[in-house]
Amino acid sequence: MMTQYWSVDETNEAAAALAAGGIVAFPTETVYGLGGDAGNTQAVRRIFEAKGRPSDNPLIVHVEDVPAAMRLAKQVSDLERLLMEAFWPGPLTLVLPVREGVVSSLVTAGLDTVAVRVPAHEVARELIAASGRPIAAPSANRSGRPSPTLATHVRGDLDGRIDGLLDGGPTGVGLESTVVQVVGDRIHILRPGGVTREMLRQAVGERAVVDGADSQAAESAASQEQAPRSPGVKYAHYAPQGELLLVAGNPADMIAAVQAQVAEAKARGLRVGVLACAEHAPRYEADAVLDFGSRSEPEAAAQSLYALLRECDERGLDFIVAEGYDERGIGAALMNRLRKAAGGRVLQV
Ligand code: AMP
Ligand code: MG
Repeated sequence: MMTQYWSVDETNEAAAALAAGGIVAFPTETVYGLGGDAGNTQAVRRIFEAKGRPSDNPLIVHVEDVPAAMRLAKQVSDLERLLMEAFWPGPLTLVLPVREGVVSSLVTAGLDTVAVRVPAHEVARELIAASGRPIAAPSANRSGRPSPTLATHVRGDLDGRIDGLLDGGPTGVGLESTVVQVVGDRIHILRPGGVTREMLRQAVGERAVVDGADSQAAESAASQEQAPRSPGVKYAHYAPQGELLLVAGNPADMIAAVQAQVAEAKARGLRVGVLACAEHAPRYEADAVLDFGSRSEPEAAAQSLYALLRECDERGLDFIVAEGYDERGIGAALMNRLRKAAGGRVLQV
């Protein structure tokens, strides 16, 4: 298959390809998505095939505005409506009871719910509006690889496997959307992301915001037994080819621990990299030291994480030691992705 490459002033051509059942990668404010007509089973099947995505992992449907989202849901509660008004357009995905027949059952992986969001990226909104239909779009990477934050990442993973790529430059947040599900008067965070726990709490006042089973806080909380789960969270994600070790804890104690891990791996003859904040980076000696930006700006680390993980592969690193961040604000999503990239290898200092 020949992949077509479009600039943002060719958005209408990308929209026409979507309307005709094609699968097209496009920028959003989180990461690049791989879109297809959510009502077209053939198009949706091709998304799963192009990514190599397991068929039991449902897709997020992207729509242009709140009314379009309402058309996909069987019903919407006051609290869900409040979240839509507060955070759309933006990086918040709501899991809603699905209205029968509005999307292909491949999109929902046969569940009775559908995940929906309105992206804030101008190009994405224009594309969706011009296509005239809800667009199912997971991240535009091969399954298991870091999500793409640049068009070149998409090209590297999916060239020849998709119909087109709309190049909108680098994405904004750099991590995926926050996925939530409202149960009664509680908001369960199924996956942390661009909209933080603190932002949710501020918007809904005294109402409960509950960390989902995918967060560190929830792993130890017995009260989570009844919590809803997201099918996708069980899969390995975001991993570089080398082995990644996450060092978490007090930043002042991190440097010695990271140095010791690097030395040990070097002694085993490995090609070793470090992912560190700008303040610590000059202290390390390794085959590659990649810089997350200042520790005072975790947004910068979120923005650069996936590109840095891909750079680890390009540099042929066998072993990567990554510094952890504080779990406040966007730091919760950043640490969630780092723990996944580490496949559970976490050294607490
Ligand atoms: P991705 O598109 O790769 O960013 O992943 C989408 C995430 O949303 C995955 O973790 C999915 O499991 C989750 N998701 C999509 N649809 C649903 C749904 N109906 N219920 C719960 N989680 C969902
Ligand atoms: Mg993904």
